Amino acid sequence: MRPDHVIIGSGINALVAAALLSLKGRRVLVLEREDRLGGCLRTEELTLPGFQHDVMAATFVLFMTGPAGAALGPHLARHGFEYCHAALPTAVLRPDGSALVLTMDHAANVAAFEALAPGDGAALSADTGGVAADAPFLFALLGGNLWSWGTAKLLFAQVRKRGARGLAAWFGTALTPARGWLETSYRSPLAQALFAPWVLHCGLTPESAYSGQMGKVIAFALEAAGAPVVKGGAGQAVAAFRALIEAQGGTFRTGADVDRIVVSGGKVTGVALANGETIDCGSVLASVAPGQLHDRLLREEGPPKDKAAQKFRHGRGDFQLHYALDAPPEWRTPGLQDVALIHLSDGIDAVSKSANEAERGMFPATPTICVGQPSRLDPTRCPPGKAILWLQIPDAPRVIKGDAAGEIGATDWDAAKEAFADRIEAILARHISNFADIKLARTAHSPRDLERMNVNLVGGDPYGGQCSIDQFFLWRPHAHASDLPRGLVQIGASTHPGPGLGGGSGFLAAKGLGA
Ligand SMILES: Cc1cc2nc3c(=O)[nH]c(=O)nc-3n(C[C@H](O)[C@H](O)[C@H](O)COP(=O)(O)OP(=O)(O)OC[C@H]3O[C@@H](n4cnc5c(N)ncnc54)[C@H](O)[C@@H]3O)c2cc1C
Repeated sequence: MRPDHVIIGSGINALVAAALLSLKGRRVLVLEREDRLGGCLRTEELTLPGFQHDVMAATFVLFMTGPAGAALGPHLARHGFEYCHAALPTAVLRPDGSALVLTMDHAANVAAFEALAPGDGAALSADTGGVAADAPFLFALLGGNLWSWGTAKLLFAQVRKRGARGLAAWFGTALTPARGWLETSYRSPLAQALFAPWVLHCGLTPESAYSGQMGKVIAFALEAAGAPVVKGGAGQAVAAFRALIEAQGGTFRTGADVDRIVVSGGKVTGVALANGETIDCGSVLASVAPGQLHDRLLREEGPPKDKAAQKFRHGRGDFQLHYALDAPPEWRTPGLQDVALIHLSDGIDAVSKSANEAERGMFPATPTICVGQPSRLDPTRCPPGKAILWLQIPDAPRVIKGDAAGEIGATDWDAAKEAFADRIEAILARHISNFADIKLARTAHSPRDLERMNVNLVGGDPYGGQCSIDQFFLWRPHAHASDLPRGLVQIGASTHPGPGLGGGSGFLAAKGLGA
């Protein structure tokens, strides 16, 4: 039967859109070029049998706290989607062994910050309280449809509330880089170091415009909602979405590589697969990066009128490292065994340096490392008594020009991967007293491997494009996205509201189509 909506790709945004549209009674067909569904959501026995690793995305705080999660959570729960929570969402561990843990207890966090430096507790309260106070406006800008009367009315209401100069000042503060925010708000280097690495997870650096605001939003979200993972792994989330969508009559096809979007008279009429098959449909939602959209899927329409579409830039690469362990790690610094996500970093300067090195095509001499401990939250991930670790290094070069430490000679990821993994492992092992005894196996994925698994991760960029302000908000993916043929909506990390598991663009697209 002719689908109402063909959805290209099966990542979080595609799944959210498919679920919402099928719950409205629309016939949806999801086409995925890989042999499995989920895009960045996949769980595999990467290292050893019985050890279930989230190969890419793992932390579902954005989905849990966003509108897509609110709308779909109860439906997905009926199909087996379950969160596993940690009381200790994040920590920083510095090279000297000093550490600071953020809990989900605001008063305890304030006391811990205050103990580090008088005034830092009050600064934390002011930052998270400020996000809470601005939440309706702030989250509408971060996640809502910006080209809408709703947003215009919201801005007008803010002018009335704050005055024009007051609103201009609010935007000025929101554009502050994380370095400026942290250095003027917190005296303790540990408090600064706790938040500095988080801006990398927004595709930014400590010097990027608006990275300070994103740091405050993250501090607020982690304290309020934690860092949940899905029981059994991200792959279980995909299974729940699939069951929900199929129960509503939606269908999925894997190994279905869409080669072209068929357009007639300026309107989309269907898609053509790489195997020559054509599928007619009412509309198409394409979860692809701009390069593929314009150079491949819409190639017959000629180059986009908007020149900015051809200048879309991708960000730094991402490197993933997974461990199977014979026993839980014994951190030399006490209090870290139950933390969901630990950054190994010395602070703002270290984060800035590694990001800058990666930006310039160098292997960072000391990469910023995020260590996830999913098996502490969800013991089903590995055999009893064992453990897994999920390491993300958001500072990897997309194109390798050299090594900031002058040690790795290879300039190709396939040749350099294990040497870079050794560098990361040496930093990790220094902090874990039993590491040599418990290490069973490791698997590394370079930026190149990530792109091989998901064509949208261009150059291993995990965030669908540079997230600098010129490519964000109204300008994501570029200034004139309305150039697209009628009946075509671009969704996915490359579109507003950007990357992450919030599923925001799938949510907005489905709502725009009447779901
Ligand atoms: C390693 C890694 C770790 C991350 N960790 C987190 C995390 O913990 N928490 C978080 O919130 N975010 C995380 N992110 C970011 C987040 O995962 C992504 O921003 C988000 O999942 C992207 O979803 P998407 O909807 O854009 O689709 P994607 O997940 O990118 O999926 C797109 C799908 O479309 C398919 N496709 C593309 N072209 C075609 C075609 N022509 N025909 C058919 N199919 C096609 C691809 O094969 C792919 O399966 C991480 C990202 C990476 C890479």
